[in-house]
Amino acid sequence: MMQARQRQFSTPSDNWCQVHFADSEVKVVRASKQYIYDDLGNEYLDCVSSSAHVGHCHPHVVAAGHAQMLKLWTTQGFLNDTYSQYMKKLMDILPESLSVVYLVNSGSEANDLALRLGRLYTKRHDVAVFESSYHGNISSLVDISSKSFKRLPQGKKDFVHVIPLPRTRNNQDSNIENGQAEFCNEAQNVILKASQNGTPIGVFISEIVVAAAGVVIPPPNYFKTVYQMVRSQGGVCIADEVQTGLGRLGGDFWAFQGYGVVPDILAFGKSQGNGFPMAAVVTTREIASSLPEYMSTYGGNPLACAIGKAVLEVIINEKLMYSAKMVGKFLLEGLRGLMSKHPTIGDVRGMGLCIGMEVVCGRPDMKPATNFANRVLYLLKEQKVIVATQGEERNVIAMTPPLCFTLENARRVIGAFDNAFTKASQ
Ligand code: PMP
Repeated sequence: MMQARQRQFSTPSDNWCQVHFADSEVKVVRASKQYIYDDLGNEYLDCVSSSAHVGHCHPHVVAAGHAQMLKLWTTQGFLNDTYSQYMKKLMDILPESLSVVYLVNSGSEANDLALRLGRLYTKRHDVAVFESSYHGNISSLVDISSKSFKRLPQGKKDFVHVIPLPRTRNNQDSNIENGQAEFCNEAQNVILKASQNGTPIGVFISEIVVAAAGVVIPPPNYFKTVYQMVRSQGGVCIADEVQTGLGRLGGDFWAFQGYGVVPDILAFGKSQGNGFPMAAVVTTREIASSLPEYMSTYGGNPLACAIGKAVLEVIINEKLMYSAKMVGKFLLEGLRGLMSKHPTIGDVRGMGLCIGMEVVCGRPDMKPATNFANRVLYLLKEQKVIVATQGEERNVIAMTPPLCFTLENARRVIGAFDNAFTKASQ
């Protein structure tokens, strides 16, 4: 049982600030590796902090940051060794065509810049996005993140073209290949219609594995077809790898590698600084030439570069992408194994350590069971396992733990889910 809270504390949003806290019950005081600790001494298994990519407070990252803090934090545009060394490391893990890097401070800023580059280059304003997408929290992105349309006073804007989600489910494996052509046709229709209407798409921005929409995994050849269609109509393709980048999906650094494509513009963040605010946009020389001057006070500061470089070193030295693949597969199969026992688990899908479990009223109807999913969340928290919900209906339990997550952790999570579903259905 969860240790009883000794005292109440109020969230700041009560009176002096509008910050939203995902969980106002747990007050976190420190974190290490894949564990977080509250003010009552409880230890939780953190299955959600994708930004603590190589583990909370990793000693190599802390040491690199500390050493840099003693030397140089900010330069406002002067060259420095830490920056050059980081760039060299980044170049090693990027496709050759993507050779211009802009360092910024958040995933939102990266996507905003990516969008700006795409629009400047194509000289077009229209954008294609996935249904239920999320690309950030600043105006240009709220306008194109279809997840937010319902909350916008004017709803969807005319320059936004929404592509239906290529929603495959692992419990319908045989349909994936069949669905492929249908999904590609749907996307092609949206893109062609925009051209025919005289408002051709300048930019197609998407996650490759659509984490924000509830871990939606497009079929294998989807992006080859859709990227080709966008380009044939004169548009460019942006991959938003804020959640999926730097090895989260296991095996490769980037999600687009698994789909055999290279985007024209890549945006990433979150994992890049292991919690330190930093993000990046990478593109071709040709596209970058449409924005000859770019300046960011904090983007690419020496402290961020030292931390970013240390994060890459840990990913490589500790072979985290490979363990993410192996542990992720074990977790995925274990959770899928629970489906025979619990009919409210509609589907379990994922790649590496990006896993989503769709909670439904029953199969095969697959009606979303949001309240039930929340109950499962609560019952998992009682067992000190922290997960989150994603997707338009908030019925997909999503797991994106730090990549140092172990097989032992995975076993614990599978057992905790089994208990939670059993209790929740009583
Ligand atoms: N894109 C995606 C896919 C995201 O998941 C997020 C953050 N949840 C963002 C962009 C925005 O990143 P940030 O919160 O760092 O601005």
